[in-house]
Amino acid sequence: MSYRLSEEERLLQTTVREFANNELAPLVADAERTGTFPRDRILPGMAALGLLSIGVPPELGGVGGTGLMLCIVAEEIARVCGGFAIGVMGSVLSPAALVRMRGPAAAPALPPLVQGLTLPAMAFTEPGAGSDLAAIRCTVTKSDRGLLLNGTKTFISNGPTADVYLVAAVRSEVADRPRAERARGMGLHVVLRGTPGFTIGRPLAKLGMRSSETGELHFEDVLVANAPGVGAASGAGAGQAQGFRGMMELLDFNRLYIAALSIGIGQAAFEACVPYVKQRVAFDRPIGQHQATGFKVARMAMNLDAARALVQRACELYEAGERCTRAVSEAKLFATEAAVAITGDAVQIHGGYGYIEELPVERYFRDARVGTIWEGTSEIQQQIICRELGLYSE
Ligand SMILES: Cc1cc2nc3c(=O)[nH]c(=O)nc-3n(C[C@H](O)[C@H](O)[C@H](O)COP(=O)(O)OP(=O)(O)OC[C@H]3O[C@@H](n4cnc5c(N)ncnc54)[C@H](O)[C@@H]3O)c2cc1C
Repeated sequence: MSYRLSEEERLLQTTVREFANNELAPLVADAERTGTFPRDRILPGMAALGLLSIGVPPELGGVGGTGLMLCIVAEEIARVCGGFAIGVMGSVLSPAALVRMRGPAAAPALPPLVQGLTLPAMAFTEPGAGSDLAAIRCTVTKSDRGLLLNGTKTFISNGPTADVYLVAAVRSEVADRPRAERARGMGLHVVLRGTPGFTIGRPLAKLGMRSSETGELHFEDVLVANAPGVGAASGAGAGQAQGFRGMMELLDFNRLYIAALSIGIGQAAFEACVPYVKQRVAFDRPIGQHQATGFKVARMAMNLDAARALVQRACELYEAGERCTRAVSEAKLFATEAAVAITGDAVQIHGGYGYIEELPVERYFRDARVGTIWEGTSEIQQQIICRELGLYSE
C-alpha cells in the first residue's frame, strides 16, 4: 500500500480544508457557546461540494470515491471543530452505507441526504447498555399497524435535532431469550421525527464536543417507518442490517470515521504547538529547544503519522472487501488514545494559556477525550483485537 494520498484525495483534502477554514471556523465560537449544531449553515455547503455523496457511484447521483475520502472529510472538519465533525458524521456516512446495504435500490432514499436536507442520527446506546450492545432493551413488536418500537436511547448525537433516526432494537419475542438468540433478533429500524409516541428527551450538557447536540430519545408504541428520506434500512419496517453481526459491520466504518476525526483534533493541537514552541521563550531560549518540550512535539508528529497509516490500512482492507475488524479496532484505539495524549501535551506546552478559553487548545483537549469512549471504548477495542488474535477461542 502507498501512504501517499492520490491526486484526487489531495484535491479533496485541499477543498475540505478551505471550506472548513473559510466557512466553518467563523461559526465555531458561537456554536460552542450555545451548544448548538448550525446544520443549516454547514450541510448545504458540504452538499454543494459533493461531500455528502462520497462513496455513492455517479450513476446514483454521487461523486464516487473511497472510504479513505470519507476519513479525509472527517479529519479536515475535526481539525477546525470536533463537534461539527460529529454533527455531520451521519450525513457524510449514511449515503455510502445505504448504497453498500441496498445497492441501486438505495437510489430513492438518497436525494434528501446528499442535498443535506435530512439530518440523521444513529441510536444504539441505552441507559443500561453501551459497550454491551447485545444487552439493549428497546423492542420492536409486530402489530396490526406494523412494527411498534418501545424503549429509551441515550447519549445520541444529533438526538435533539435530527429528522431521521436509525434505532437498534430487539424483536420482542426473543427479548427474554438467551444471549445468542436475542442477538439474532436484533436490527436497525427507521423512525421519523414527529411520529406519534416518539419524544425527544432532555439535551445533555457535556465536557466537550459542545457544538454537537446530544440527547435522550423515548419511544412508546412508535410505528417504525420506511422513511421517504432514508427509509432504506427498514424494508417493510424491519431493518436490512438485521442481527447483531449486521449491526456491528455497520459500525466498522463509524469507527474509522471516529479515528480520523480524532486525528483531526490531534492535528489542530499539533499545529498550535509548533509555532508556539518556536516563539515562546523561557530561560533565554524558545521552549521547543528545551528537550522536554521539543520531544513532546516530536512524539505528536510521530503519533499522527502512525495513526494515519493505521486508518489508511484499515480503509484499504475495507475497500477490498477483506476482513478488517482487527485493523479497524487498531486504528480506532491508536488514533483516539493518541489524540487524548497529544491534546493533553498541547495544554501542558501552552502552560497557563493552554488552560484559558481564549486559545482553542483547551477545547481540543476536551473534545478529544470522548474518542476513547464512543463507538466502542478503548477496552472494547482491545477485547476485539484479542478475539481476532484467537486469544478467546479455547
Ligand atoms: C458525547 C457522546 C455522544 C454519543 N453519541 C452516540 C450516538 O450518536 N449513538 C449511540 O448509540 N451512542 C452514542 N454515544 C454512546 C457511546 O457509544 C457509549 O457511551 C459507549 O459505547 C460506552 O457505553 P457506556 O457509556 O454505556 O459505558 P459502559 O458500557 O457502561 O462502560 C463503562 C466502562 O466499563 C468498561 N467495560 C465495559 N465492558 C467491559 C469489558 N467487557 N471489558 C473491559 N472493560 C469493559 C468500558 O470500557 C468503560 O470504561 C455517545 C456517547 C457520548 C459520550
